[in-house]
Amino acid sequence: MIKQYELPFASNALEPVIDAATVETHHGKHHAAYTKTFTDLVAKAGLEGKSAEEILKNLDAVADETLRTGLRNQGGGYLNHNIYFEQLRPEAEAKHAPEGALLAQIQKQYGSVDALIEELNGLGAAQFGSGWSWLCKAPDGTLKTMKTPNQDNPYSCGTDLVPILTLDVWEHAYYLQYRNRRADYLKALWRIIDWAVAEKRYEG
Ligand code: MN
Repeated sequence: MIKQYELPFASNALEPVIDAATVETHHGKHHAAYTKTFTDLVAKAGLEGKSAEEILKNLDAVADETLRTGLRNQGGGYLNHNIYFEQLRPEAEAKHAPEGALLAQIQKQYGSVDALIEELNGLGAAQFGSGWSWLCKAPDGTLKTMKTPNQDNPYSCGTDLVPILTLDVWEHAYYLQYRNRRADYLKALWRIIDWAVAEKRYEG
């Protein structure tokens, strides 16, 4: 079912990291528009009842090129923002560090959580133009990082990876408040990332 993730907090609850105007535009306008357009395209393609993950994993099954490109872009815009907003919490409520199996795997592969954050922020900073930085889980339980352009994600890129965390580096995610300082936005964003959500995705 296609359903935009509803924010369980007020639009100013992520301040000072993300201001109310950015949340209202990003979630209320951009994400809402992706959701509506994707819903319309899914109906046009006769894919009602399929999940966004299924559709994005099987884009090759859509013969019409314009429709396929639309599903890829709008479906990614819908799903990527669900993943992004679900992991954000007001600073006072967010779990600020991972524990358990996820922490153990991070330490094993990256040495420390800070080293992983540095890698993810580096990928986000290095993405030319719009896109996303991702922490993913591979089928064998190992972690993988990647960046994607536009609204692509691990599913539409043909990987077998499951997203654990994502950083939106489209200008609409930060420009009202941070202007051109993408790196400052990425650094601050970790104050409102709820690692409890990442743990659940990793263990799920
Ligand atoms: Mn966005």
